[in-house]
Amino acid sequence: MPPRKSFVSSIGLEPLFNRGSGSSSSSPSTDESDTPKKSWYDYLPLCGTVSLILAPHPSLLYVLVDFHLKTLRQPLLFATHIIITYGLTFLAFSSLIICVSRDPGPVTSNVSSPANGTADDEVGLTEALMPDIDLSEPGRWCRKCWAPKPERTHHCSQCGRCVLKMDHHCPWLGSSCIGHRTYPAFIHFLSSVTLLSIYIAIISISALWYAFHNPFTVNEATPIQELILAFIGIIFTLVIGSFLCYHFYLISTNQTTIENISPFLILRHLPPLRRGGHTLSDPPLEQELSSAQRRLVKDAHGAIRIYDVGWRSNWTQVFGLNRPFGWLIRIWYGGASPGDGRHFSRNRRADEMLARLATELVKIDRNI
Ligand SMILES: [Zn+2]
Ligand SMILES: [Zn+2]
Repeated sequence: MPPRKSFVSSIGLEPLFNRGSGSSSSSPSTDESDTPKKSWYDYLPLCGTVSLILAPHPSLLYVLVDFHLKTLRQPLLFATHIIITYGLTFLAFSSLIICVSRDPGPVTSNVSSPANGTADDEVGLTEALMPDIDLSEPGRWCRKCWAPKPERTHHCSQCGRCVLKMDHHCPWLGSSCIGHRTYPAFIHFLSSVTLLSIYIAIISISALWYAFHNPFTVNEATPIQELILAFIGIIFTLVIGSFLCYHFYLISTNQTTIENISPFLILRHLPPLRRGGHTLSDPPLEQELSSAQRRLVKDAHGAIRIYDVGWRSNWTQVFGLNRPFGWLIRIWYGGASPGDGRHFSRNRRADEMLARLATELVKIDRNI
């Protein structure tokens, strides 16, 4: 029995979607292909991450046993340090496992591809008729995955798939994307590593301080270990802590890393513009703008926060702070953000600013 024609091909849109895709048959969005295939070398940076977390522990154990147990003779303090450091290490590894193993945000798995002709056409028809997906609108349909592209979804070229509310692609966490379903675990991981680094730095600096003031009561090899630990603790606190602070800022302003570093993404939210007597694409494309218009978009990008609905609501969108114990679940095992990852409330003021930006873009073009 011959395969049925897909909805898209039956209404004559096939050439439109094949145009420029280049690889529509390379990554059709089926259940199997939605999971990116990785090579062994993709996991090498992850081995580096695990090694870096474990690296300070031999020296830490040495300092805790030699200084806190043998020199100070304080078993209670020793036990407290052990519980806190290994508790934080456990939390770091638990969230690391989630970031590596959980799907960051599957978009769809059953849209038919004209190239393979084997997917379920009826589901493809359902997806194609979804009221909030306009197939003719650029940015709302991924030609590489052959799937709808919901709001804030991006196609990751390394993973070869679309990810809901994609934040960034992280080679250090098993070459996986951080998206709607793994972002809380990612923040959990950064927080655990930063707290562990701060704690190790405090333990080692205080032990080093004691060694300076009581040089004849400590083992002569211990201060070297304490110095190494203090150095590692401070470096990790500065590097991972800065990264964590940046993500706290992104959460507070409801932006993803991609949205924050890509000023021309706001073009997706603009109405059709006119330039030089002809109408630009809908939405306008970066390459269609003049240099003055590009500068204006870059300046406006810092001020227009499309999804910023107040810092409290922004944090709630990520961690579900409004649910009883929901935040605890997400902090404990890094559960997914609440919601479906496809629909987001918008900042009303941003809509006004976008309209003003569209007007200014037309005006600045006329003044050149
Ligand atoms: Zn895609
Ligand atoms: Zn990726």
